[in-house]
This record gives sequence, structure tokens and C-alpha cells, in this order.
Amino acid sequence: MNVVIMGPPGVGKGTQSHGIVNMKGTVHISTGDILRMAIRSGSELGLKVQTVMNAGDLVSDELMMDLVRDRLSQDDAKKGWLLDGFPRTAVQAGGFISLLDEIGQKVDAVLVLNAPAEEIVRRLEGRVTCRACNEVMNLKGFGPVEVKFCPFCGSAEDPQRPGKSALYQRADDKEETIRHRLTVFRKKTLPAAWALEERYPLCEIDGLGTPEQVAARIAAALG
Ligand SMILES: [Zn+2]
Repeated sequence: MNVVIMGPPGVGKGTQSHGIVNMKGTVHISTGDILRMAIRSGSELGLKVQTVMNAGDLVSDELMMDLVRDRLSQDDAKKGWLLDGFPRTAVQAGGFISLLDEIGQKVDAVLVLNAPAEEIVRRLEGRVTCRACNEVMNLKGFGPVEVKFCPFCGSAEDPQRPGKSALYQRADDKEETIRHRLTVFRKKTLPAAWALEERYPLCEIDGLGTPEQVAARIAAALG
């Protein structure tokens, strides 16, 4: 079974992708992994990626398409794949459909995992990371008292920099950044989903509730 999963940051895409891979025995293919694998392989494509990234540029649609074609043509992809993070725009979606036709593959389901913006902001906003143990946690449930110690490892201080708090909020989890990323999802990624829907079955999955509830909805949609 070949699946494309799309969703805004903070909707639980990572957790659910993991569940789908376990349930269906498919390979998880994320764009980050594709880029890293290409660079590590030292192939001609990998060298191109390295050059682009060293220059601080974004990987072009054309190069990304070559990388995806290369990845989906590998042996392990024959047992089915879950593609995460691609296509990201309607233009990429068009190119992706042509590329699948070319290599004789298709998408069995496009999963769009979504939740109201307010819910996503609420979930991500309370998220902090511990510098001592790297655990990511949500402190919303701990009430109004400021949390000084990491509930996982008990550290109060950053072990590298005494005097600095162990718990901190990543720039990615600040409200302004979250809202910007949600806008990018609505304006760029959703049109990619609608473009794929012209050819493949699409299921919208409600991302509200516990991870187990969301997983049950996905399992029902995938059959
Ligand atoms: Zn900790």
C-alpha cells in the first residue's frame, strides 16, 4: 500500500506515520531522510544536493523529483511506502503524478490530517524542551505554577551553561512561528493535496483527540 500523509506542524503526523508503518509494513520515506541518504551515498544526485545545501539554497522541484524517483525505485519501496513531507506544493504534486505514471506506481490513499488552528497553537505553545535530557514535553498540564525542574530528569540547569534554565521553548514552538507555518500549510500544501485528489483517493482525518483515537480513524480509512 502506498500512502501520502500531509498535515500541519503539531497535528501528530510523526506519531501517526510511525503507527501506519507498523500497521502496514511499509517503508517510511520522509524528504529529510531522502536528502540525508542521497548525500551519504555519494551518488551524482547526492553531490548535487550537497552543493545546493552548502550554498544555503533550497532544493529545487526538479532535483527533489529526481530524488523521489530514485528513492521509490529502490527495492525496499516495493513492499509499499508512506511518503511524508512531499509533495509540498501543487506544482510538485503535478510532477509527482507524472513521475508515478512513469515508474508504474500509484498512490492508494492521500491522508490529510488536520485540526483547527487554535488547537494546534494551544498544543505547541506549551511545548518545552529539556537541555539536559532532550525530552520534549508539554507543560500546559502542570498548571499556572512555573515549572523549574524537568519532570523527566529533574534538572533545573543547563549542564553546559550553569545558571541557565534547563527547560526552554524552541523558536519553532513560539506562537508567531506556529501561525506562519500553519498559513504556509493552508496556502501551499493543501493545494498539493487537492491536486493529488484529481487522481487518487483522498481521506481527511480529524486530528483532534488522543493519538489512539486518531490512529483508529486512520486505520478505518485505510481499511
Ligand atoms: Zn530533563
